[in-house]
Amino acid sequence: VGEGYDLVVIGGGTAGIITATTAAGLGARVVLVEADRTGGDCLWTGCVPSKALLAAAAAAHRTRSGGPGVSPAEPKIEFAAVLDHVRAVIARIEPEDSPDALRAAGVEFIHGHARFTGPRAIQVNGDHVRFRHAVVATGSTPALPPVPGLADIGPLTSDTVWNVTALPARLAVLGGGPSGCELGQAFARLGADIVIVEATDRLLPREEPQASAILATRLAAEGIQVRTGTTVTHATGEPGDTTLTATGPDGPLSLAVDAVLVATGRQARTTDLGLDQAGVRLDDRGYVMVDRRLRTSNPHIYAAGDVTGGPAFTHVAAVHGSIAASNAVLAPLRGIDHDRMPWVTFTDPEIAHVGLTEQRARDRYGDGVQVRSLAHRRLDRAIIEGDTAGFTQVVLDPKGRVLGATIVAPRAAEMITELAVLVARRDRLRGLASVVHPYPSWSQAVWTTAITDSAAALARPPARWGVQLLRRFRRATDRG
Ligand SMILES: Cc1cc2nc3c(=O)[nH]c(=O)nc-3n(C[C@H](O)[C@H](O)[C@H](O)COP(=O)(O)OP(=O)(O)OC[C@H]3O[C@@H](n4cnc5c(N)ncnc54)[C@H](O)[C@@H]3O)c2cc1C
Repeated sequence: VGEGYDLVVIGGGTAGIITATTAAGLGARVVLVEADRTGGDCLWTGCVPSKALLAAAAAAHRTRSGGPGVSPAEPKIEFAAVLDHVRAVIARIEPEDSPDALRAAGVEFIHGHARFTGPRAIQVNGDHVRFRHAVVATGSTPALPPVPGLADIGPLTSDTVWNVTALPARLAVLGGGPSGCELGQAFARLGADIVIVEATDRLLPREEPQASAILATRLAAEGIQVRTGTTVTHATGEPGDTTLTATGPDGPLSLAVDAVLVATGRQARTTDLGLDQAGVRLDDRGYVMVDRRLRTSNPHIYAAGDVTGGPAFTHVAAVHGSIAASNAVLAPLRGIDHDRMPWVTFTDPEIAHVGLTEQRARDRYGDGVQVRSLAHRRLDRAIIEGDTAGFTQVVLDPKGRVLGATIVAPRAAEMITELAVLVARRDRLRGLASVVHPYPSWSQAVWTTAITDSAAALARPPARWGVQLLRRFRRATDRG
């Protein structure tokens, strides 16, 4: 094909689309190659369908819960209509990610499977395409844990669960990470009997332990069996009638279910990609190795999104895409800092996080790390809503700059952003004290932590001496 491109992008998910459109915007000649459907996991099997499912589940939960002076009622759920909603949401968003949208942005599009044939060329649909630079943005796929018998019982994954036509009456969710918790809560609220099996001792092992505990209590209150510290050792039966054998804290157990949803982890999508021909090395987990600038072991090839093994989120894939594009097309100047990324688990309550957890901050900065927090039982908005289980916690370095934060609240995803600004800019929390937050909002929790930090700073020298001096001066001058 022709004389070659400034940039070849392999994969049309979020990372690939943002890479290609950014590079085209910078004036580069760009082609994007997608083997399946543009839009990637986020649109077809990830964020979009899962959040659409959660929206339906939340409606069911509201009806079931009632409210102050409003009697609860058992919702009438039509699962087929729920799936129609999921498909309609995808269809509404899909044009944004379509080949037409790419072409409109100045990106050439090839439908086909790309494979490297050397350090500066790929092959697609039998054609050879040469490039100055390439970006590998091929994403990740669900990984099945090596449990004997599991592959034979036709387990569902985040790829296939969207094809079910009826709600399984009894569903085991393997993995208590973000996807397992979100989908588990959603299917439970829609009427399934759910057991979540997690091998570590808590749900969401990457989050603050208090956040995991609140979620476990909430899921249990909604009738979900949460089995942490439990490992499935084998599976028998067939799709529709399966028995899982597991070992848990109280010994062996067996779980009879109609379906199994595996959400235990992901693996890089690198099969038949010819990375070795291109001199692109993988790490020991099979992800494409990149440096801070997202450059692979081949200086002409970058990688972006899930395939790099970085935090597997759409907004991370998008920022990778932007960085990879400008580094490849202009100059390799921009770097990524995963320690400043926000992310959210969209359970109810939402669990939003940015930057470092308290433990990781202490490991890095030692005892000078400070924590400012507010339990939401002291937050007026939470009391008004009758939803006081959550908290807002901000982790500061010894100078009061924000290293990380966790919020557990129904609207935590919207609340975390102002703390993400402080983390991104390495700003102090107390600077936020002078920014007035409306009453009675959820975001007043964040403001309260800033005011607490500001008050604590005033109570310490040298600010304390200044305050004392001013007060004495005022008394002395007022006397006359
Ligand atoms: C259930 C679930 C819920 C999620 N919810 C959220 C959420 O709420 N928020 C969030 O931020 N993230 C969420 N994620 C994660 C998010 O979906 C991913 O991080 C994101 O989609 C990664 O984008 P990507 O571009 O790296 O890869 P992908 O979206 O996987 O795109 C890669 C593309 O490359 C194509 N491809 C692969 N190999 C080739 C080849 N050789 N030639 C041509 N094309 C190829 C594939 O067909 C695919 O379209 C969720 C994930 C799951 C599974």
